Amino acid sequence: MLVIKELHKSYPIGDSSLHVLKGINLSVEEGEMVAIMGSSGSGKSTLLNIIGMLDEADSGDYILDGLPIKNLTEKKAAVYRNKFLGFIFQSFNLINYKNALENVALPLYYQGMKRKERQEKAMFYLEKVGLKNWSHHLPKELSGGQNQRVAIARALAANPKLLLADEPTGAMDSNTSYEIITFIQQLNDEGKTILMVTHEEDIANMCKRIVRLRDGIIMEDKIINQVRIEQHV
Ligand code: ADP
Ligand code: MG
Repeated sequence: MLVIKELHKSYPIGDSSLHVLKGINLSVEEGEMVAIMGSSGSGKSTLLNIIGMLDEADSGDYILDGLPIKNLTEKKAAVYRNKFLGFIFQSFNLINYKNALENVALPLYYQGMKRKERQEKAMFYLEKVGLKNWSHHLPKELSGGQNQRVAIARALAANPKLLLADEPTGAMDSNTSYEIITFIQQLNDEGKTILMVTHEEDIANMCKRIVRLRDGIIMEDKIINQVRIEQHV
């Protein structure tokens, strides 16, 4: 699914620079559910943003689904992003004045899908995340867990091969967090490849593999026994 070799990334800070990723090597196969861990500032989001083609590495190789990601025009990058990747963020990134259905349908609009098909597809995915009866509610009328479900439905609507999540439960209490991760586990059971940044051990333990970053390199990369939590939701 993806292969990363000797990836480096620095940010300019005044006259000097901050070397954040110092030679990352990582392969992820289709069907994996991987947690990227590390303390705050260790470069987790930087790595995820490069994988998500929201940012570019300074050097090294990144191959996504057989395609070398290098020197792409913004237009090409956007095409691949829409085709391959779904994003989930801590802060949901929903549009406040659009209801759940409209939020899920928006990326489909940008794909050029017709209105009726968009609405049907958006409704299908809202139903999948258990929010069929909430489709006409605005984000402010929904709980944090519900809003994250809307964001997941939006990410799924474009049928991405790879789902990228940056601290998806960072703003939630533990019960809601477990509920969201349990749902993400179900998506993974169905075959979706998941890459999730978290700094919470209990969330990482619900993945199938943990990659630990420290000082810009991967200090540990291991397969784990995935924790499953019985849910009654
Ligand atoms: P994490 O997600 O692990 O908390 P980040 O990848 O967000 O870490 O950041 C890694 C380091 O890079 C931090 O020290 C952060 O301040 C710095 N950094 C992140 N983005 C930028 C940027 N756009 N410009 C300058 N420094 C940045
Ligand atoms: Mg981060």
